[in-house]
Amino acid sequence: MKADGYGLGIGPVGGTLWHAGCRRFFVAYLEEGIALRRALPGPAEIYVLDGLMGGDTAGFLDAHGLVPVLNTPDDIARWGEHARRKGGRKAILSVDTGMLRLGLSAAEVAALGDDASPLDGIEIEYVMSHLASAENSSDPRNETQRRRFEEARGLLPAAKGSIANSAGTFLGVPFHYDLCRPGAALFGVSRSTGALTPMKQVVGLKGKILQVRVVDSESAVGYGATCRVPAGARLATVAAGYADGYLRALSNRGHGYAGGVRVPVVGRISMDLITFDISDVPEGAIGPGSDIDLLCAEHTVDDLAEEAGTIGYEILTALGSRYRRIYTGGPAA
Ligand SMILES: *Cc1c(COP(=O)(O)O)cnc(C)c1O
Repeated sequence: MKADGYGLGIGPVGGTLWHAGCRRFFVAYLEEGIALRRALPGPAEIYVLDGLMGGDTAGFLDAHGLVPVLNTPDDIARWGEHARRKGGRKAILSVDTGMLRLGLSAAEVAALGDDASPLDGIEIEYVMSHLASAENSSDPRNETQRRRFEEARGLLPAAKGSIANSAGTFLGVPFHYDLCRPGAALFGVSRSTGALTPMKQVVGLKGKILQVRVVDSESAVGYGATCRVPAGARLATVAAGYADGYLRALSNRGHGYAGGVRVPVVGRISMDLITFDISDVPEGAIGPGSDIDLLCAEHTVDDLAEEAGTIGYEILTALGSRYRRIYTGGPAA
């Protein structure tokens, strides 16, 4: 549920998953954990990936019933001290197995093997790690990481294990252990998660046409005049832009759907406006006040990401706050 539930709203997304039976959630920050705790309709475990965030956050985690992921010896020291004072606390222990991002190094794990006293008072529910190359199922680093994970787990044989994000889940059962942690795949992101079959698209995005013009003589569109259009071209200007997360990299590259026809972005994306060439859409089919589909079944998050030279994760988490958001099909619908 990081980044406001992958940009789609931590409250509605969290609530929907809770009603579907999910009882274990991960967030990045303390504040996200607090927001999710408020939004969930019933009991659930919420784990904070960034741990104690190098600060004195143990009391805040506790006050909201959040469980930290311990990434460093300092995290362990602080949470251990807190746990012993409070008569015991849960945590997840994070070990780095080759991504060099978060988690204890092999040497730090070995030191805990020699002297486990820093963990006194902490009930390690899971030992977890994170895969660097899981979207490429033939990358030998996946198996290397899994082997290092097994070694680290030897230190705490009673704790459960978790290593798989979305892509790791698609690597198969040996990577599932006791808990998978899929994020992007839940929302239909497929291409960068190594999904075996495309995941169902759960998000649509429409932009409203403000103005339609027929170009009277060949000329250029938008800032910097980066695209020339011929006389007779029909252009639609839509109320959305890079301030809404319709990335500027989509200038002259993105596509939408209008009246069932694929229409290209022409010229640069502005802060609040996009211009599409709708010459191929039957005349009269759309006009000011009509919508252009920016994300739809025919043009998915993955498709738009590819046009922008990025991944679906960035498209989703960039979705701006000015859109009117409508949730359908959830428990409240
Ligand atoms: C974000 C994250 C996930 C989920 O990743 P997806 O690729 O979106 O499935 C899982 N585990 C950790 C540690 C993460 O940071």
